[in-house]
Amino acid sequence: QPVIGVLALQGDFREHLAALAECDVIARPVRRPGEVAEIDALVIPGGESTTMSKLAQEFEVFDPIAERLRAGLPAYGTCAGMIMLADEVLDGRPDQRSFGGLALQVRRNAFGRQVDSFESPVEITGVEGGPVTAVFIRAPWVEKVNGDVEVLGQVGDGPDARIVAVRQGNLLATSFHPELTGDLRLHRYFVDMVRSAV
Ligand code: GLN
Repeated sequence: QPVIGVLALQGDFREHLAALAECDVIARPVRRPGEVAEIDALVIPGGESTTMSKLAQEFEVFDPIAERLRAGLPAYGTCAGMIMLADEVLDGRPDQRSFGGLALQVRRNAFGRQVDSFESPVEITGVEGGPVTAVFIRAPWVEKVNGDVEVLGQVGDGPDARIVAVRQGNLLATSFHPELTGDLRLHRYFVDMVRSAV
């Protein structure tokens, strides 16, 4: 069984650990550099990306994680986790750092200008059984994708459509929080990615 770590410095890591525990994998919190070496994949939870960035550096896991991501470690980021995986962060704090890996621009708190949180059904390419209920909480959206980033899901129509789910190789990211809904389909999608990567 693959060992999937959940970055457990801040945010809703417990919900991710609970979701993964139902997906036939070994799910473990990651807080120390030594733990980064022991995982086959990493989930980066929702929370607050500025705080997560700061804590990851204080706990000395920032560079080990960035290094493993560059070497191809599969990862899934939700909300703040999406921001942490983005190569470029718009409306970030000046001292905020992201691990990077996803060739895209993400805008922090993008929906928050109109509304703090909302739910919407979102159809995800590669996820069967109808749309997922996407929960957005001061969520980012993907402003622009580069390279071979695949858009898996959008919310809204026409000129108002916003990219909220993407994949690039072994990296998956959603602006929303499947870990809060009890719907395991995105976690299972990620576990399938991990199984075909290892
Ligand atoms: N607004 C948060 C940030 O910028 C993300 C919110 C979330 O993860 N629910 O990091």
